[in-house]
Amino acid sequence: MTHVVIAGAGLAGVACAHELGRAGFDVHLIDRNDYHQFQPLLYQVATSQLPAVDVARPLKAIFAKLPNVRVVQSEITAIDFAARTVVTDSGAEFVCDYLVLAAGACANFFGTPGAEEHSFPLYSVADAERLRLHVRALLEAPSGPTDVVVVGGGPTGVETAGAFAELFSALRTMKHRGGEAEVYLVNHGKALLAPFSEKSHRYALDKLTAHGAKVKLGVGVTAVGPEDVSLSDGSVIATRTAVWAGGESAQPVAHGCGAEPGRGGRIDVTPDLVVDGYSGVYAVGDVANVPGRDGKALPQLGSVAQQSGLWAAHNIERESKGHSRKPFHYKDKGIMAMIGRGAAIAEIGVHRHQLEGPLAFAAWLGVHAALLSDAHSKVDAFMSWAWDYFDRDHAAIVECHGEPKRIVWGNDIEPTITPR
Ligand SMILES: Cc1cc2nc3c(=O)[nH]c(=O)nc-3n(C[C@H](O)[C@H](O)[C@H](O)COP(=O)(O)OP(=O)(O)OC[C@H]3O[C@@H](n4cnc5c(N)ncnc54)[C@H](O)[C@@H]3O)c2cc1C
Repeated sequence: MTHVVIAGAGLAGVACAHELGRAGFDVHLIDRNDYHQFQPLLYQVATSQLPAVDVARPLKAIFAKLPNVRVVQSEITAIDFAARTVVTDSGAEFVCDYLVLAAGACANFFGTPGAEEHSFPLYSVADAERLRLHVRALLEAPSGPTDVVVVGGGPTGVETAGAFAELFSALRTMKHRGGEAEVYLVNHGKALLAPFSEKSHRYALDKLTAHGAKVKLGVGVTAVGPEDVSLSDGSVIATRTAVWAGGESAQPVAHGCGAEPGRGGRIDVTPDLVVDGYSGVYAVGDVANVPGRDGKALPQLGSVAQQSGLWAAHNIERESKGHSRKPFHYKDKGIMAMIGRGAAIAEIGVHRHQLEGPLAFAAWLGVHAALLSDAHSKVDAFMSWAWDYFDRDHAAIVECHGEPKRIVWGNDIEPTITPR
C-alpha cells in the first residue's frame, strides 16, 4: 500500500487525510495535539464565549471510520524533503512514498522587543485558553483588571478587539469593576482590514468604535513589557494583556526541511502544490505560499488550506496511478470578518460583492460550516449556536457570572486541553 505521511492535522492536513483515507492509502497523520483545532473560533474561547473543548475535536474520533489513517500525537522535530522522512520527539522516524507538509503558521513578532515573552498570540486552543485564564485572573485580582491592547488590524485583531470590547461592556452593565478596562487596537497601517474595500475599512472602524474600542491607526508597537506596550508615537499604554495579531510566519518545523523558505518563511510550491525539486513532497495551507491563478500567493485562509489539502490528496492519487498532477484551482469564496455581535462584513466571491450585517454573517456562516465539515458531522449544531451568538441583543455572557452557551456537537469524547 502507498504510504503517505501528513505533518500537521489542521484544516489542510485533515482534508488531505480524509481523502487519502477514503481512497485506501496507508496514512500517518502526525500532530503535536491529539485533536484538530478550529482557529476561526479561538477569539470566542479567549473571551469566554465558548469553552475550548467546543473548538477542538479528537483526531481519533474524526478518523474512527478510516482505520488506514493512523493518528500519531508527537512533536515533529525534523523533516527531510529529499529523503522524505519525518522525525518526532519520541525518536520515531517515518519514511514515506509521499510527504505532505501541513504544519500551519505561528506568530511573527518581527523582532519587536519583549513581544515574544510578554504578548499573547492566538494560534491554538492552548493559546486561547491561556489568554482566557490570564484575563479571568486579572478580573478577579485585588489590583483589578488592566486594559487590553490588541496588536494588528487584520481580521484576527478586529474580531478579537470586538469580542473584548463586548466582554468589558457586559461587565460594565453588571457593574463589575472589570468594566473599567479599555480595549485598544493598534495598527501599523492606516486602515483596518487592509485587504477589504474602503467601505469595509470604515464599517469595521465604526463598529469597533461603537463597541467601545479605541483604535489607533498608523501607529506601530515598538516594545512590549510585562506592564506596558510602547508605541511609535511615543505613547505608552499600561497593560498586562497585549494580544499579538500583528503578523505570521510558517511554523519553525518548515525551516531546515531542505527547501529555501520563501515569503513569510513559508515554503514555495509549484501550481500543482509540489515543492520544486523534491519528488513526492507537497506543502499546503498556511505553511506554504500557495499560488493563485495569477501566480501570486493566496492569503492564509481556512478555505485555501482546506482546498489545497484536498487538492494535494487528489494529485497524490493521480501520481500513484501514473497520471500527471493538475494545477490547483482555488474556489474563491471571498473574505469576511465578524466584529462583535450583530456586526459582520463580507466581500463575496472573486468580484468581491459587498455585504454587511446579517447577510454578511450568513455568508460567514456558510463558509465556516464548510470548513468545519471535515471534522464534525453535526454542522447544524454550529449553525444554531452561531445564529444565537450573532442575534442575541443582550450583552456577552461573562464567564465569572455564568457558563457560555455551548455548541451541541454531541461528541462522546472530549479533548484535554492544557494551556501552554
Ligand atoms: C485566530 C485566527 C482566526 C482565524 N479566522 C479565520 C476565519 O475567520 N476564516 C478563515 O478562512 N480563516 C481564518 N483563519 C486562518 C485559518 O484558520 C488558517 O488559514 C487555517 O487554519 C490554516 O490551516 P492549516 O491546516 O494550514 O494550519 P493549522 O490549522 O494551523 O494546522 C497546523 C497543524 O500543524 C500542527 N503542527 C505544527 N507544527 C507542528 C510540529 N512541529 N509538530 C507537530 N504538529 C505540528 C499544529 O498543531 C496544527 O494542528 C484564522 C486564523 C487564526 C489564527
